[in-house]
Amino acid sequence: MWTLVVNCGSSSLKFALLDPATGETALAGLAERLGTEAASVRVDRGGERRTVPLAGGGYPEAFGAVLAELEALGLRGEVGAVGHRVVHGGERFSAPACLTPEVLEAVRACVPLAPLHNPANIAGIEAAQSAFGDVPHVAVFDTAFHQTMPEVAYRYAVPESWYRQHGVRRYGFHGTSHAFVAGEAARLLGRPLEDLCLVTAHLGNGASVCAVAGGRSMDSSMGLTPLEGLVMGTRSGDVDPGLHDYVARQAGLSLTQVTAALNKESGLLGLSGLSNDMRELEEAAGRGHPGARLALEVFVYRLAGAVARMAVALGRLDGLVFTGGIGENSAAVRSATLERLGLFGFRLDPQANARAVRGQGGLVTAPGSQPPALVVNTNEEWMIARETQRLVAGGL
Ligand code: ADP
Repeated sequence: MWTLVVNCGSSSLKFALLDPATGETALAGLAERLGTEAASVRVDRGGERRTVPLAGGGYPEAFGAVLAELEALGLRGEVGAVGHRVVHGGERFSAPACLTPEVLEAVRACVPLAPLHNPANIAGIEAAQSAFGDVPHVAVFDTAFHQTMPEVAYRYAVPESWYRQHGVRRYGFHGTSHAFVAGEAARLLGRPLEDLCLVTAHLGNGASVCAVAGGRSMDSSMGLTPLEGLVMGTRSGDVDPGLHDYVARQAGLSLTQVTAALNKESGLLGLSGLSNDMRELEEAAGRGHPGARLALEVFVYRLAGAVARMAVALGRLDGLVFTGGIGENSAAVRSATLERLGLFGFRLDPQANARAVRGQGGLVTAPGSQPPALVVNTNEEWMIARETQRLVAGGL
């Protein structure tokens, strides 16, 4: 049976039809600008790409288009389950969950923790349940993997009542990706995951590092929200908590405006004054653009520092894993980061590092480098399909 994997954003719907056993993808696509006249859905099938207009359509119309594609492929009856990416599961979810009405209510209760993401996830789940009413739906949470973090890692030094009453603690995100690449890294290193202490670095538009001991998350650079931690495309990562009040007063901004600027106008974009896109910044830095150079340097400096902190959480470092668009493709970011982390014993293999681009994973350190560093291509859709299948096969 095939699993349909769904990831709903505020005006988008990413979907993929996968064989959970092999990761084979029969159909994939992205509906964008939903709710506007420009709404459309891009469909990738058998090496071909088409765009279908959906003028004014929302999630129901987008799922209608997915259904039509499945019927055209003769696979409508072969969909065994639908797996939904859900951003925030709070403390309630430490594993995927079958989307019963009660579970959906619990996801709704997490909306204050992820006011931008969970409402879109919920709207997508409801539309998908209408379109695919005959199969089980499963929620796979971005936060669930990190529920194994010890209290020393997840508590903030703030009034205890904030934690007890409002859930103010560190949750961590990108869990599906960190879990997937840790497993793949163990396979590539030829060692059991149970024996390994790994730091995984998911570097995309959002970015986080995770300390993984024996396949379990021990710490993450992301916290209460996905704003904490590393420098990201447009997100600041760590700042002084006193900054909000200072900037609000000095620049005459509301707290909401400061938070929006930290989410959307900061990070690589804010530092470079040019772009949030690493590829573009590398090109500009090569031409001598000072903002692009600075953005790259700060990105790497903070990343290396965060990896070191994760190593402290682990007490031992058996490997560093790079993934995400930047981690998988930017040889420059990897080499600069490993150079900064020289005291851990990494020895870069420049040729291997240069080769590890565009889907070519593998070791980027020299044979005998202790610890090794490697590139693993993440595949969150496959992980969601596997988790969904595992839960459904286990009788929910
Ligand atoms: P998302 O988090 O949105 O899924 P991705 O994981 O696709 O994002 O990562 C996007 C980032 O990866 C962008 O900053 C992009 O510039 C960067 N990237 C992609 N290819 C390259 C490359 N060849 N060299 C450097 N950076 C790259």
